[in-house]
Amino acid sequence: MLLYNTLTHERELFVPNEPGKVKMYTCGPTVYHYAHIGNLRTYIMEDVLDRYLRYSGYSVRRVMNITDVGHLTSDGDTGEDKMVKGARREHKTVMEIAKFFTDAFFADCEKLRIRRPDVVVPATTYVDEFIRVIEALVEKGFAYEAGGNVYFDTSKLRQYYVFHGFSEEDLAEGVREGVGVDENKRNKADFVLWFTKSKFEDQELKWDSPWGTGYPGWHIECSCIAMKNLGERLDIHCGGIDNAFPHHTNEIAQSEAYLGHKWCNWWVHVLHLNTPAGKMSKSSGEFLTLSLLESKGYSPMEYRFFCLQSHYRKNLVFTYENLDNAAASYRKLVGRVAAVMREGGGGEVDEQEQKELAKGFRDALDNDLNTSLALTALYGALKSGANAATKLAAVADFDRVLALGLIENAEKLNEEQQKRSAAAAGAAEGTAGFSDDPEIRAIEELILKRTEAKKRRDYAEADRIRAGLLERGIALTDTPGGTVWSKV
Ligand code: AMP
Ligand code: ZN
Repeated sequence: MLLYNTLTHERELFVPNEPGKVKMYTCGPTVYHYAHIGNLRTYIMEDVLDRYLRYSGYSVRRVMNITDVGHLTSDGDTGEDKMVKGARREHKTVMEIAKFFTDAFFADCEKLRIRRPDVVVPATTYVDEFIRVIEALVEKGFAYEAGGNVYFDTSKLRQYYVFHGFSEEDLAEGVREGVGVDENKRNKADFVLWFTKSKFEDQELKWDSPWGTGYPGWHIECSCIAMKNLGERLDIHCGGIDNAFPHHTNEIAQSEAYLGHKWCNWWVHVLHLNTPAGKMSKSSGEFLTLSLLESKGYSPMEYRFFCLQSHYRKNLVFTYENLDNAAASYRKLVGRVAAVMREGGGGEVDEQEQKELAKGFRDALDNDLNTSLALTALYGALKSGANAATKLAAVADFDRVLALGLIENAEKLNEEQQKRSAAAAGAAEGTAGFSDDPEIRAIEELILKRTEAKKRRDYAEADRIRAGLLERGIALTDTPGGTVWSKV
């Protein structure tokens, strides 16, 4: 598989450290609020990568943190802890909102068929480990204490800006956005490993440490959780593109300083979902959550399909019009699968043909996870000359990676259609239950009379009934499923 690596800015042939095994780390959510659909785009695309590696035969161990302390509003070392801000907003404690929004996050993931990583670690459960690694960094001369805080000394590294494309300029910008320059830092790029002199007195969670009571920085959390659970050599680290700097740059700095060798081979970043106005935000504009989309009638699978239609390394613009188009395509796709099911015919799966169909699918995903071409391969399979059983086997196979619920939703669609036609047939036979509402029942009885008249070819009577109903403000429409009425 060719997989783009932000470290080299190239698509490289993916080879894990240990044959057949992949160690993968994902930056988890900061649980101070619901995830917005931009965050969820990142988790969906990471899920496709995880699933495709498994589909390709790798045994994947995937670890994710839950950031419930230390992520400041600026992404750097200024601003307030997002969790404290969230707790104040909700009039709850930090741990209460952490639990609430962690559960909400995994509920969204379940709806979107995002696999739960094998290991999930809330940062607050790992503080001893953070302290241990920070102590080692101080001992090795990579960290220093100043003004009560512990900082990482970036001047001790041969190269700090590992993902070129980020530079001092970006950092200067971060500082401008933030509260001010931290006078304790020896170098502009240095970052906090442990805070004790928080400017914010209401920091709720604090722990004792060799440097005084305080709390960890956000970056050290991911390094420690990854190293503790996945060892010294990581194959893939992923996150949204905004995490590349400073978060991932700092993760690399401290992990490699601690280990004394290269840490992670592939850095995979998902580009952003934006609104036409720009950056997606939890605080301004419409706060786009999965629940909001559901309340507007979209299904989580339609949103997943929307994401899969475009490449993870391209920015994606969210509009309801774009989502409408994706939702319509998704429903059409499910309809096609349902039609193949109805063809049935009891044919046997032609394994050779199925393999050929899968080849196009694999080629697409082997090319830096091209999900939109993978969908094209899926359409190709449905259009192919294969028999129904082979087509369905291909759909089920591809859906191990796409996770669009195609077989399940097609079965549901067929069941619903069967029920509807049974009801229509029942109505035509006069055996269906009439409404309990006397007014509606009168209309239904007249419709039945008209259907019977039409069967007898007594069109004069049928037209008379229709005209009579129209005078009462009831219009009839004949559809393949039977006659339906509406008020005019
Ligand atoms: P957070 O909960 O803020 O720590 O972010 C969770 C994940 O969402 C991280 O991997 C971010 O990089 C990613 N992310 C943040 N904003 C967006 C966006 N607009 N589109 C896609 N991913 C995003
Ligand atoms: Zn992280």
